Parts: sequence; structure tokens; C-alpha cells
Amino acid sequence: MKAIDFLKKMNKYEKLEKIGEGTYGMVFKAKNRENQSIVALKKVRLDDEEEGIPSSALREICLLKELKHINIVRLLDILHSDKKLILVFEYCDQDLKKYFDSCDGMIDPNIVRSFLRQLLCGLSYCHSHHVLHRDLKPQNLLINKNGELKLADFGLARAFGIPVRCYSSEVVTLWYRPPDVLFGAKIYSTSIDMWSSGCIFAEMANAGKPLFPGSDVEDELRRIFKLLGTPTESEWPEMINLPDYKHFPNYQPIANLSYVIPNLSPKGIYLLKKFLVCNPLKRISAEQALKHGYFNE
Ligand code: AMP
Repeated sequence: MKAIDFLKKMNKYEKLEKIGEGTYGMVFKAKNRENQSIVALKKVRLDDEEEGIPSSALREICLLKELKHINIVRLLDILHSDKKLILVFEYCDQDLKKYFDSCDGMIDPNIVRSFLRQLLCGLSYCHSHHVLHRDLKPQNLLINKNGELKLADFGLARAFGIPVRCYSSEVVTLWYRPPDVLFGAKIYSTSIDMWSSGCIFAEMANAGKPLFPGSDVEDELRRIFKLLGTPTESEWPEMINLPDYKHFPNYQPIANLSYVIPNLSPKGIYLLKKFLVCNPLKRISAEQALKHGYFNE
């Protein structure tokens, strides 16, 4: 897009206040001057301002415009010049992290169930279109006042990669990363999002207390293994061949996860265990999880 066209298209939106800073850049609330609708503008900061936007990234982003589902934040428009990229998204009221802060105390078990169901519906849709999220966390689960949950930033990790530090130089969190990725696995599959879903499920059921708040890769893995037990070779034969594999002591699993998440029903605990399986090949899929008895309680 030529600079003049970019400015013309940009002029369609009246920038209102800043609403957040995420992994890729600043997010602003804005109004579409043509139809008065409210949108979220995400300015993507490019790693190499001189080089401009890689064409592979642009191609990926264009495909994301086709993802249309009630539980996915709609990508409405893409504005780009040589050096700038602005993504225009459907606007949502708040994110799950802010929701946790506003709850201080328990979250109603029916709300936890509804949020998890919506998260899985959005994931199942994207996974069936072969799109992974790769960086799911409460900050990119957006919530509307009517209780709708929508997944933000779908597919951006593939287009731009997951940086080590986000725009505001805050360290990118490891809390929702599965053990295979922490051990350096390079081939990602839908299972990466299922582990993150399990961590988010436990966090919702525990009134916003994160399950594995590790400070670095080793601490993150130790916390996981101390709770779930260090995987044995028969449970996960491929583990020792992963690029960054490191030996850990043989921790035994906590006998009953209910001690750690007391507010979750037995069926909920049973489902949670299926997300939190260290071997990615044995982790439950979004579609399977939606059929679980926990949703009929
Ligand atoms: P992100 O880059 O998606 O991590 O965005 C950073 C923050 O901006 C999020 O945690 C949200 O609070 C806010 N945000 C991002 N996208 C939207 C949106 N579509 N509607 C409202 N707020 C958003």
C-alpha cells in the first residue's frame, strides 16, 4: 500500500484512548468514522523497521481475515505501508486477566465452565482450519459484558514469531508453555494450545491464581514435574531426544489435584488432568474435551 493510501485508510479511524500493550505493540480503542463502530487498533512493532514487513508475515495475516467465529476476535482490516502495520480488530470490553483482578475471590463455577467451553469452541474452530495460537494466556482471552469470551492474537505467533520480550520490554511469560516446548521442541501442533488451556482452566477455577508461575525455563519445568510427576521414558519416550532436554529428579505426582484446586468438581479435575499431559501426543484435543462429562454437570 502506498503511503498516501495508508494515510487515507488510517483516516477512516478516529483514535481514542490507549487500551493496552501486548506482545507485538500498542493497542488503541478507535472509532470507525464511516459507521461509528468501535474497534481495537493494534500497531505491530516490526523487529527490523528498515526491512519492513516480511511478505511471508503479510500472507499469514491475510489468511487470518478468513477466520470467522463467535469465539475468535475478528480481524476486520489490515493497514500497511512499507514500514508500518496496523491490524484492526473487533473491540471487546476487557481481558481475562483484568476480569480476575476485578473478581478478587472465587469465580462462579458456572462461569468457569462457560469460559472454558467458549475457549474450546474457538480453539476447535481454528485447529480444524490448521491455525494454532501458540501463545494463549489470560491477557489474550477477551471478554464482553454479556459473558462472551473471544480469543485474540490467533495466528500472529506464526506470522511474527514469539519474541522473548514484548513491546513494553516485559519478559514474555512461560507460565502457559508445555514441557515439550520448554525442552526446545520445534515442531508445534495443536497440542501446544491444549496445555495452555489446561493452565488457564486451573487458573480460572483458582480465582486467578496461576498454576505454574515459573521464573525461567528450569523453574517452570520443575514446578510442572513437582505437581504432575516427572514423566517416565515409557510415558514419553521422545522426551530425551528433544534439543534442550535436561534431566530432572524423579518427582512423584501429587496424589490428588483437588488439594491444589479445591473449588473444581471431580469431573473438572478429571478433565484438567487430560489437558496437563506432558507427552504432547497423549494430550486431549479441543473437540474431544468439548464432549467431556464436565460440561453436562
Ligand atoms: P495483546 O497484544 O493482544 O496482548 O493486547 C494487549 C492488551 O490490549 C490486552 O491484554 C487487552 O487488554 C487489550 N486488547 C487487545 N485486543 C483488544 C481488543 N480487540 N479489544 C479490546 N481490548 C483489546
